[in-house]
Amino acid sequence: MSFSLRDKNAILFDMDGVLYDSMPNHSKAWSLAMERYGMHMSPHDVYMNEGATGHDTVVRISLRDRGFEARQREIDDIYGYKASLFRSMPEACVMPGAQDVFRKAAAAGLKILIVTGSGQKNLIERVQKDFEGFITRDRMVTAFEVKRGKPYPDPYLKGLEIAGVPATEAVVIENAPLGIRAAVAAGIDTIAVNTGPLEDEILLAEHPVLLMHSMQELADRLETLL
Ligand code: MG
Repeated sequence: MSFSLRDKNAILFDMDGVLYDSMPNHSKAWSLAMERYGMHMSPHDVYMNEGATGHDTVVRISLRDRGFEARQREIDDIYGYKASLFRSMPEACVMPGAQDVFRKAAAAGLKILIVTGSGQKNLIERVQKDFEGFITRDRMVTAFEVKRGKPYPDPYLKGLEIAGVPATEAVVIENAPLGIRAAVAAGIDTIAVNTGPLEDEILLAEHPVLLMHSMQELADRLETLL
């Protein structure tokens, strides 16, 4: 496949599982929170739902496990509890290679944005320090900026709007099936980085232009793509 970044002017990064090795913490937090409300979320379930808003995730699992839609108040309770569990866990590491990718993308003149379904305020704050000089809050689309989360294209369409480029001039870096689906639905070429336990085939089924296995691999291959 001869995919190139030569005609690209913006690079849009997902956050969890791309910039931070935060998915193991999310997985534990979701599992414990759902357990308390009589539902079950396996690590596979968490990774398959990654990228969706907390609201949509609770609705989906409630329908599956209990056969009815959770009410707004319960959704708020569950997601609030999940978020508090997540905050109490050891800080997730910056994904090895991620800062290297940012440096090389910035040097190539690409506009850098983050497009995340996350509503974790602490991580949204922290990313601006860990990637200082490359990202500011006004270059981020989070759970607070859109009504419909991934896999709807809305977050990525909002990202394009902020970047001021058409879909054809952007590239997305995503690790989650629903995230890739959202970016592809927005018409953006997407590089999948499989940093979790899912089979490559699950990510490839969402039609990324390339698939890699770490941010370090992306950093190492970036020059040849530019
Ligand atoms: Mg992710």
